[in-house]
Amino acid sequence: MKLRWLCAALLGPALPALAQVPIDAPRGNYEGADNIHWYQQTPLQREEAVKLPITVGRASQCNSGNTSVVCGGGAPLREALPLFSAHGLPTLDIVLQVDSAKTEGFSFPWRRATREVRRINDALARSAVPLRVIVAHIEFVDFSGFATVSDIYDDYFINNKSRNIAQQHNADAVLAVINGEARPTEPSCGYAALGLSSYWPAVGITACSDDTNDALNQDTSAHEFGHMLGLGHDGEPGDGAFIPYGNGFFDLQTGVSTIMSQGSQSNERVPFYSSPQLNLGSAVGTAMGNEEKANASKALTEVAVTAALFAELNFGPQALNNARRRVAAPPPKVID
Ligand SMILES: [Zn+2]
Repeated sequence: MKLRWLCAALLGPALPALAQVPIDAPRGNYEGADNIHWYQQTPLQREEAVKLPITVGRASQCNSGNTSVVCGGGAPLREALPLFSAHGLPTLDIVLQVDSAKTEGFSFPWRRATREVRRINDALARSAVPLRVIVAHIEFVDFSGFATVSDIYDDYFINNKSRNIAQQHNADAVLAVINGEARPTEPSCGYAALGLSSYWPAVGITACSDDTNDALNQDTSAHEFGHMLGLGHDGEPGDGAFIPYGNGFFDLQTGVSTIMSQGSQSNERVPFYSSPQLNLGSAVGTAMGNEEKANASKALTEVAVTAALFAELNFGPQALNNARRRVAAPPPKVID
């Protein structure tokens, strides 16, 4: 029963754009109910998830001997980080912080925010990544004291703020959905901390959650989520992915790009993470990825369980050790 609810939310027909279901509508089986109450299913979903067997995987071999050394084309780990694997469909719990600034275009903010989570899950499902995001907690936050979205991002790493938020709700990540309309001078649609880390929970910010058909805007949260789990853009130096092939793909011939690529600034984007197995068919006839540099779907699959275990490893009874509780340097910040 509970799982059916989840499936209805994930696989149901296209979400009617901000359907007129009140935020405080009662629970029940009626049109729109799964949209508004989807986030309330978290404890039930978690009960299912914890039954899954977790197996300790191999430790990352990338640069565990010298964590200041960049992995392949990627970012420095800063620490040896074991990667875990599991059967089933692990769930990553996030705290959704929703901008309390009200404007006409930023309507039904909570439903807007949960829609962003659904967009992330849609992208993961399309890309065959065995991971689903669920909402551990949702709340309004007054961000009016910040001049820019960039400032909002930076604040999450002052005094361990993001870590404290995650710990308070036993969550693995923090996602902020910002009212971009209230900040018309903000040039960027999103920011994210480049994952993974055993210290910082994944943090992402979406400022473009609008209702336009702009493919880039619709993919913003999935793009930031990719960064949160360690994906880079197009594999250029300094844009390091946690795993060397964890990048987007941009097809020069067609001008079509995948979620993480910045190769196309037009709307020629497909809502998939890159993969050499993703072929758009005869009309395009090209694989949207390759094994060496652009297999973001595979990279996500490899880090998914580790990211989903952040709360368990850091806040749970099996918290690894006190070494993880030192104050860490902020993670690399990526824009857009
Ligand atoms: Zn980006």
